[in-house]
Amino acid sequence: MKIAVDTHTHSIASGHAYSTIDELAKGARKSRLKGFVLTEHGPALQGGAPHPYYFANLRVLPEKLHGVRLFHGVELNVIDDEGGVDLLPRYVRHLDFVMCGLHESCFPPRDLAENTKALLAIIANPLVDAIAHPGNPAYPVDIEEVVKTAVRYRKALEINNSSFLVSRRGSEANCRKVAELSCKYGALLVCGTDAHYWRSVGNFKEALSIINDAHIHPDQVINSSYNKFIEFIERRKMERRAVG
Ligand SMILES: [Zn+2]
Ligand SMILES: [Zn+2]
Repeated sequence: MKIAVDTHTHSIASGHAYSTIDELAKGARKSRLKGFVLTEHGPALQGGAPHPYYFANLRVLPEKLHGVRLFHGVELNVIDDEGGVDLLPRYVRHLDFVMCGLHESCFPPRDLAENTKALLAIIANPLVDAIAHPGNPAYPVDIEEVVKTAVRYRKALEINNSSFLVSRRGSEANCRKVAELSCKYGALLVCGTDAHYWRSVGNFKEALSIINDAHIHPDQVINSSYNKFIEFIERRKMERRAVG
């Protein structure tokens, strides 16, 4: 299986990342990707995120950079256990790809029941398309419930390549469980690098090996082809608009 679009990248606008958008695009071209999604952190990640206006003004950027398609995204933060996110709907609605994830400074880890409640509520939030790094061992969750809820709402669960390299150490067992249960129940997956430096863009090696070991069909991975990714984001945009 190949990945055509890197759905998780950060530029210098995220504060703790080290490449410009142009450099990320060059990295995507070097990895022979068709596109990449710019997913800076939502504003609750203080000191590590741009101002909300950043997301409103992404339209000034060209659609293609260095021969690859630039998609507009965000990595929102879980901020409560009721499905709340840290960016107003008017900044989120027009984006191409909306991820949301649990981060320590915005939602300190709780017990399994409370972490699970928070994640299920986020999956149900009509603004959100995908859950970033649900296999993070800092947040024990009922993975089976997360996968079943993702199936119900046709949202994607991320297998995040950085979780095996630099961040969220100890994610592998959880990610394998996410992949295996996704195979069993037919959940959609998405494979992102979480690149904070251009050279990581397009490096899906560890995540793909977990996806392959779980015998996931490419049809289940929303960014396994450019057209499949477009199909997913178009459906999600319609669903997002339908809620007003
Ligand atoms: Zn994250
Ligand atoms: Zn990230």
